[in-house]
Amino acid sequence: MTVVILGGTAEARQLAAALIADGIEVVSSLAGRVRNPRLPAGPVRIGGFGGADGLAAYLRDHEVSALVDATHPFAVQITTNALQAASVTNTPLIRLERPGWSEHPHSGGWMWVADAASACTTADSASRPFLTTGRQSLPDFDSWADRDVLVRLVDPPTSPVPQRWTVITSRGPYCYAGERQILDEYAVDVLLTKDSGGSHTAAKLEAAADLGIPVIVIARPEHPPVPTVTTVAGAVAWCR
Ligand code: NAP
Repeated sequence: MTVVILGGTAEARQLAAALIADGIEVVSSLAGRVRNPRLPAGPVRIGGFGGADGLAAYLRDHEVSALVDATHPFAVQITTNALQAASVTNTPLIRLERPGWSEHPHSGGWMWVADAASACTTADSASRPFLTTGRQSLPDFDSWADRDVLVRLVDPPTSPVPQRWTVITSRGPYCYAGERQILDEYAVDVLLTKDSGGSHTAAKLEAAADLGIPVIVIARPEHPPVPTVTTVAGAVAWCR
């Protein structure tokens, strides 16, 4: 039995480790977006499949018994492809998606927006925003060349950013003290984030609340209807 895990998340890595410990053969798949990705245990393939048809061909050629879509909540295309490929190849499919932050104790005070463009409009009066919304969202904030934007990314941006912007490259998990220091040091006046959920990047939310800094949260995009579990244990049980 071979389980393919569509990964790129901490949960996908945890799942690979758990299934291997159970004696289940696993191949993890990464998109190849990040320069030095954190690799899961076991075999890994990197790069796109070539759409839903390419993924379907992979599932057939490798006699895959089950597919787990453990990709990030904001990665919609791969989930759409997974659903299509699983249905044409009759491969059992489940999605592993961590809960969002809507139940976070501070969520009542946040401003929720539908996408990065709306986040830019909503926070337009800010003079020192902190952008933690990912590399792909940067073009939506082009109009902020006139202010001191702090951007945090895993890898450096692929195209030049405005002169007044400061880019820091790092990856989580982050701790409360470190997040509070960044917010203080750069005199951040609004924090922008996606509703990534989980604990790895949640410390900034606590730090912003304690410093009275407004938070703008980009809501999760809608995903196609795939049966979903919210925990690694749930995905392990399904695979078993
Ligand atoms: P996306 O828009 O849903 O997918 C775009 C294309 O990337 C897919 O059509 C597929 O190419 C390829 N792809 C995506 N995930 C893949 C995977 N795990 N294995 C092989 N190919 C994959 O995805 P995205 O938002 O660009 O995210 C790319 C990856 O980064 C995902 O695996 C996700 O888990 C991870 N990630 C994303 C975010 C985010 O905010 N979007 C944050 C953290 C991590 P083909 O059509 O050629 O197969």
